[in-house]
Amino acid sequence: MKCLLCGKSLQTEITFTNLLCFKKEEEIVCESCISSFESIGGNHCPSCFKKGLSTICQDCQFWCKKGVKVDHVALYSYNQAMKEYFSRYKFDGDYLLRKVFSEILQTELKKYKDYQIVIVPLSEQRFKSRGFNQVEGLIKDTGLAYLDILVKKEVEASSSKNRADRLLTDFPFLLKDGVKLPEKILLFDDIYTTGTTLNRLKSMLLEAGCQNIKTFSLAR
Ligand SMILES: [Zn+2]
Ligand SMILES: [Zn+2]
Repeated sequence: MKCLLCGKSLQTEITFTNLLCFKKEEEIVCESCISSFESIGGNHCPSCFKKGLSTICQDCQFWCKKGVKVDHVALYSYNQAMKEYFSRYKFDGDYLLRKVFSEILQTELKKYKDYQIVIVPLSEQRFKSRGFNQVEGLIKDTGLAYLDILVKKEVEASSSKNRADRLLTDFPFLLKDGVKLPEKILLFDDIYTTGTTLNRLKSMLLEAGCQNIKTFSLAR
């Protein structure tokens, strides 16, 4: 077995416990690659996990003024290693890389007991060109149940539209027709940058009648 990220050979550990449980410890990424990712620990904005802060950040204050209380958890900072990871996973289309974080995601997402995971979709065009939704890939491999109830419309090149048109199509997400919303939703995305996608989706779902929504991303 080779490390999915650097290709170095991995040693399969045969420990006593593993033998007893007839379980083979399946490592898929080497120690050195794993340690290149930086967990968001210590100081971070309590609402959105922006690191290096201990009070509510400006992004979160902005959302608060818009009526959205940010309630987000992110696992890793979007450092160089994470950028490279997403570049290979998304843009080179290396679908196997969805597995790199499935164990930690499974552990962390299981903590949201009565929440239904809802994934952020890609537009149809993007889906066709990439061949997969990287967000769905991350969840699928955890084996946890999730809902695919959102649609993303293709956003046209904005130069062909005037400002009014742009404002109308500014937010490209919709709820699928006839969907019954669960009571508690955990909105899941791959990366949280300023929070626009997740918090506007949250606002849309609040308006649609779901009162209990948290958001989660692999990276921040
Ligand atoms: Zn490696
Ligand atoms: Zn914040």
